[in-house]
Amino acid sequence: MTRGVFLVFEGIDVSGKSTQARRVAAHHDALYTFEPGDTELGQELRRWVLDAATPMNPATEALLMLTDRSHHVNSVIAPALDAGRSVVCDRFYASTLAYQGYGRGVDLELLRAASELAVGACLPTMTILLDVSLEVVNERRAHDAKDRFEAEDLAFHQRVRDGYLHLAKENGWFVVDGARSKVDIARVIDERVADLPW
Ligand code: ADP
Repeated sequence: MTRGVFLVFEGIDVSGKSTQARRVAAHHDALYTFEPGDTELGQELRRWVLDAATPMNPATEALLMLTDRSHHVNSVIAPALDAGRSVVCDRFYASTLAYQGYGRGVDLELLRAASELAVGACLPTMTILLDVSLEVVNERRAHDAKDRFEAEDLAFHQRVRDGYLHLAKENGWFVVDGARSKVDIARVIDERVADLPW
């Protein structure tokens, strides 16, 4: 059986990832899923990893994210792909490099090695980065409730954004200007993914 497409959307909070990931998944009859937290164990891990009231070392934060990913890959993503179903995932491997690596300063090589342990051979067919400035984030953020990451200062979010752009260049990802309208973004993404073997 042919393995399905594994498409990943990355970007900072409110860049529009889930809007586009859900839309593309529905259009191609693919499984939509997200990290962290789209399994029973993941929900529990997500609660802790996003809870701003629980102080947490950056390495602990990274290991919880990777625990979630390992379980998600083995119980959701890989079984779907192996069954020939395509998967669209909202955040994956690169989120850990961007947030815990570029954002928190955890050693990137250690994160890459631990990430390999978490994902094995399950790597994305394509990664799309929705890039937005922090000004756009401030305009779009509709609520005040802050999780561990939302509560971080501007400098943290700027490091994460710059880290994503660096990774995109290094790995040849498709980068979309997330400040454009949803319709414009949908058009460029649809053109880019049309030829994937859905
Ligand atoms: P993310 O998954 O990156 O956090 P979402 O897709 O949930 O982002 O979008 C966050 C908010 O921004 C939602 O209210 C959504 O409707 C809005 N949004 C998403 N894309 C755009 C866009 N291109 N222009 C304006 N608002 C957008």
